[in-house]
Amino acid sequence: MNGATPWRAERTLREDMCRIGRLIYERGLVAATDGNLSVRLDDERILCTPSGLCKGSIEPSDLVVVDFDLNLLEGDRPASSEILMHLGAYQSRPDVRAVVHAHPPTAVAFSIAGQSDALAGAHLPEVVYTLGAIPTARYATPGTADVPASLEPYWGRCDAIILDRHGSITVGATLWEAYLKLDKVEHAAQVTFMAALLGTPRPLPAEEVEKLARQGAERGYPTACSPCATDGVCELPAPEDGNGLSQELEEAIVEEVLRAVREMTAEKEEQKAGSTVVEAG
Ligand SMILES: [Zn+2]
Repeated sequence: MNGATPWRAERTLREDMCRIGRLIYERGLVAATDGNLSVRLDDERILCTPSGLCKGSIEPSDLVVVDFDLNLLEGDRPASSEILMHLGAYQSRPDVRAVVHAHPPTAVAFSIAGQSDALAGAHLPEVVYTLGAIPTARYATPGTADVPASLEPYWGRCDAIILDRHGSITVGATLWEAYLKLDKVEHAAQVTFMAALLGTPRPLPAEEVEKLARQGAERGYPTACSPCATDGVCELPAPEDGNGLSQELEEAIVEEVLRAVREMTAEKEEQKAGSTVVEAG
């Protein structure tokens, strides 16, 4: 999109950003001055939260505007220390117009405990359908250029990624969309955590994952990220545009999803067999 954002539209974006900032703070998805949000105003300018302010109390006039060369165009404070992560998302995904970075506690706990695979697994149909999976990127020092580098392999087909030991990044066409994906990530983590307390979480059957993957791909959701989640990095070629999947690619993706689920199921069976032997002995 070219040209300046009309003032009325920019004012709405500023108000939305503050409202979502309050929500993520009040819901415990960030603490203190953590987290940051941004939205594209046009091809050159990004509206984002400033560094060092609590998202629970930011005002529209606190927000800053930067360009892709990190020049501060508007505002009295420096841009968020994680602005490079946001720029990386926009540069990798032209369809992305908004980014939310938070520290959802349950989701981050999975990465600290080395249980990222459990979070990435295909347990919840709506997560498979809309997010594909919730992969975890390797650890990178917060605030450095290594953070966007660690996320780069996932952008081809993921809208929600966990940053190892750190937080999450969710993207969307709007700020609300990016926020709702964060909401889904933490909720999925809470359900998976409770399921693990009650027993061994059971992945969805492969045929159901296939059905959901097809439905999600038809609707333009990034259903394809399950392979990224289970293999670390998806080896499939990136789709030509952010959401459009060719028939060929879609089939390859579904095949990868199925293979990953089969492997997970086989592993679980092996573990079960192993524990039976130990118990029997
Ligand atoms: Zn952070």
